[in-house]
Amino acid sequence: MGIGKTFVTTINCMDGRVQIPVNEYLMSKYKVDYVDTITEAGPNKILADADNAILVESIKVRYEVSTIKHDSKVVAIVGHYDCGGNTAEEAEQLVQIKKACEHVATWNENVKVIGLWVDETWAVNEIAWTVTVDEVVS
Ligand SMILES: [Zn+2]
Repeated sequence: MGIGKTFVTTINCMDGRVQIPVNEYLMSKYKVDYVDTITEAGPNKILADADNAILVESIKVRYEVSTIKHDSKVVAIVGHYDCGGNTAEEAEQLVQIKKACEHVATWNENVKVIGLWVDETWAVNEIAWTVTVDEVVS
């Protein structure tokens, strides 16, 4: 969009412990200038269950600002250890992340979707991703 800066997107938990690890991981991995950050409490569960249409739409509106206005080509969906908004155990959260990725992948085939798990050491682990046409971030 001619603003000269590159962006990726995260759909992250609002938990203050996960913002910096996730943003640093994404900036390092994709060599971008900025990470647009959409937060909810336990967004992996919200997008996997997809039973709260208002919340899902709210996330989608912000996702579209990032992918359209900022031309983001990657969105990362995050789950984490000790989540107050999603009390499921790790194994179930990983399944939710995968389902959430599959859901969000239907929004725009040109945007790559990856799943991230932030563990008990606050390290970021890439656990799943679904496909897009263009896997290269330019
Ligand atoms: Zn959380």
